Amino acid sequence: MRDGARREDRIDYPSSAAFFAIHLACFAVFISGINLTAVVLAIGLYVFRIFAIGAGYHRYFAHRSFRTSRIFQFVLGFLAQTSAQRGILWWAAHHRRHHKYSDTEEDVHSPILRSFAYAHVGWILIPRNEPTDLDLVRDLAQYKELLWLDRHQYLPAALLAAAAFLIGGLPGLVVGFCWSTVVVWHATFSINSLGHLVGRRRYVTGDHSRNNWFLAFITMGEGWHNNHHAYQASVRQGFRWWEYDFTFYGLKALSWLGLIWDLHLPPRAVVMGEQRLGRNVINKVARQIAASFPVNAIAAQVQEALSLAPGWAELKSRVLSARMQAETFWNEIDLPAIPTLEEVRTYARSRLAQTTSLDDIALSARRYLLELVYSRLFETAAASPGT
Ligand SMILES: [Zn+2]
Ligand SMILES: [Zn+2]
Repeated sequence: MRDGARREDRIDYPSSAAFFAIHLACFAVFISGINLTAVVLAIGLYVFRIFAIGAGYHRYFAHRSFRTSRIFQFVLGFLAQTSAQRGILWWAAHHRRHHKYSDTEEDVHSPILRSFAYAHVGWILIPRNEPTDLDLVRDLAQYKELLWLDRHQYLPAALLAAAAFLIGGLPGLVVGFCWSTVVVWHATFSINSLGHLVGRRRYVTGDHSRNNWFLAFITMGEGWHNNHHAYQASVRQGFRWWEYDFTFYGLKALSWLGLIWDLHLPPRAVVMGEQRLGRNVINKVARQIAASFPVNAIAAQVQEALSLAPGWAELKSRVLSARMQAETFWNEIDLPAIPTLEEVRTYARSRLAQTTSLDDIALSARRYLLELVYSRLFETAAASPGT
């Protein structure tokens, strides 16, 4: 079983061969040479495919942030897959999982819980992440043509490679196609790795997503990743006027042409950071805040103070038999070691971006903190009953 689990997490070289082969093929430039046509092709294919990834894989298939016809939906999927980032259903399912579990154990590519290299590229190459969880993409799996496209995951990229060869010969294939493919890959991967490590956090999202102007530039808008985690359904990821989002501008142009419609924009309260956060985000952030207090030291001080108190022995039996009663006790008792609600609030404010849900976070964080302290005391009491 454990061997099986390890195998699932090891790079599967046979099925990752194409990935390494395209990287190696870039060095064939020493044979093919380079010319202007090939360079123009490389730049063009970079811009075109970064747009197709952001607009197709991400903003349409993963987040459904606008609507379109069944035909143009297929076109978007086909264009996205020219970047050889596997099938649209695979991409959308894994990405939805990333948002559902961002920076927790269940996240598919968290650079916080796993290494930078794993979050950047490792997760794509291991057998564990090869299957597509169709339950996460039921809305897409109802279309036969999308299932077909997803099954023929590398067909659009192969056709594009052939076209690059026909237009630019060997330099067209090596520089125009292979170089731009590799750079497109690493630009996209950077959102999963650097996008959760480097940059500013404007909104409280419960994860480590960041806004990074450089990533936003090279990915045509996808680098405003903290904005995106704060409101995933938005077609636009640059929320402020100065946050350039070339993918959004392209989509806006497509809407003028009537090819797409119902572009979903974030409510003003979200943009201004005035929207109350969802319960899940509040609980997630509150747990993080609580856990960052020195729980063991607080528990030790409480233990010491209580050992002299006449009610301690009685409390312990109450703690062991009734958690709810103990919680009431915590709320009534006044011990300097336990941070007050105001102290937790001040601390949370210093650690988080501005949010109108600060009071809710502080209240939940203090409750979690008390639970942590309580469980430490409980462990101590269970280990040495009678003390
Ligand atoms: Zn993310
Ligand atoms: Zn997303």
